[in-house]
Amino acid sequence: MPEIDRARLHQLIAQEKTTYERLHPTSRLLYDEATHLFGKVPMTWMNMWSGGFPLSFDRARGNRILDVDGHEYVDFSLGDTGAMAGHSPEPTLRAVQSRISELGGITTMLPTADATWVGAELARRFGLTLWSFTLSATDANRWAIRLARAVTGRSKIVCFSYCYHGSVDETFAVAGPEGTTVARAGNVGPPVPVEMTTRAVPWNDLEALETALAHGDVAAIVAEPALTNIGIVLPDPDFHHAMRALATTYDTLLLIDETHTFSAGPGGATAAWGLRPDILVIGKSIGGGVPCGAYGITDDVALAIEARIASGEADVEDVGGVGGTLAGNALSLAAMRATLSEVLTEEAFVSMIDRATEFTQGVQDVIDRHEMPWSVTQLGARTEYRFAATPPRDGETSEQAADVDLDGYLHLALLNRGIMMTPFHNMALMCPDTSRADVDRHTAAFREVVGALHA
Ligand code: PMP
Repeated sequence: MPEIDRARLHQLIAQEKTTYERLHPTSRLLYDEATHLFGKVPMTWMNMWSGGFPLSFDRARGNRILDVDGHEYVDFSLGDTGAMAGHSPEPTLRAVQSRISELGGITTMLPTADATWVGAELARRFGLTLWSFTLSATDANRWAIRLARAVTGRSKIVCFSYCYHGSVDETFAVAGPEGTTVARAGNVGPPVPVEMTTRAVPWNDLEALETALAHGDVAAIVAEPALTNIGIVLPDPDFHHAMRALATTYDTLLLIDETHTFSAGPGGATAAWGLRPDILVIGKSIGGGVPCGAYGITDDVALAIEARIASGEADVEDVGGVGGTLAGNALSLAAMRATLSEVLTEEAFVSMIDRATEFTQGVQDVIDRHEMPWSVTQLGARTEYRFAATPPRDGETSEQAADVDLDGYLHLALLNRGIMMTPFHNMALMCPDTSRADVDRHTAAFREVVGALHA
């Protein structure tokens, strides 16, 4: 396997940066002028785009983005899943326009008929009976964790090293030496040391999971069906079955976060793999880009919460810490209804997953041709390559495979060739508008930029 020539890589990065600067004078200017934005961007993570400054965009439709300098991109980033339905899908647009201008009432503190429909649809897709809405997946996770604590009377959660569930304090933890839990590097202002709230264990490590649960103080296991924020790290074949059994044995609730793994199919990995969570969280994509999130609970969890409410221990209506004024607003629910009923349909998933299979094959061909020590992993409509010859089995191994320079080069070189990948990692997502030709464009550009590493 060829070693990456680092001097050559740095030379290529410099070339791509020069091209990027030349192609994007307006984006550069807007960035330089944004002196009243912290980090010169509306949200600080936007500085993770490579090239020194992010593109400002003018328009976005389907899987295309047009930047302020007039360049068009095939978007495989899709707002890191927020735009998995494509940008501004027609049915969502119509529903949102109708709610805003014809019917009126973006946020009123009152239910609409859309909410009833969306709750029933989420129950049909994911199998959990009762649903509540939020404005983000982060909020859904936070509130669901509070409910899990209330139900179990226990204080801690278990999460997996290198997971990401939004800005949820309890989840910025990794497994330390000898079964300890330590803070993840860079965690901003934790309220208490993370080991007070959390036991973190390596993904796919059932022994460590059982040891963590055996303390008897864990309210919920918080898990994605596969890790997706440190590359895609799939579960071992028996992992979910065993995790469910351990949760039951130790009276711990199983909270499954489907925010990214919804890519596995219309009912996420939960339906595709037959998972049986007690609580399910989803966000980002189901509103077609309009801010929203949701969590579903089983009848058993609902009964236990109702008992806490009846005894006066839990207040879910006023200031008990579960809820937000804009949560469940009419606009988000109109968007969710249209997106679920007309855009992210069963048929749409078939074509999205087919495109991802073609994308994965294209990447694998380039890896094979250049004998790169890399691997590519598909999760339904999502696929990701990693700089590790064997797909990692846990977050630790996947984290070690990170390569900032290679990442930066590939992102920028692809961007300069009209292909937009997720800035945080090498993730590509397909939406209903992604065509075979779009996938082929990525494969051709990827072949060229990987080939340049060896020229
Ligand atoms: N859960 C998962 C699995 C995520 O990947 C993310 C964000 N990347 C979140 C929750 C939080 O989503 P948001 O930032 O939209 O609240």
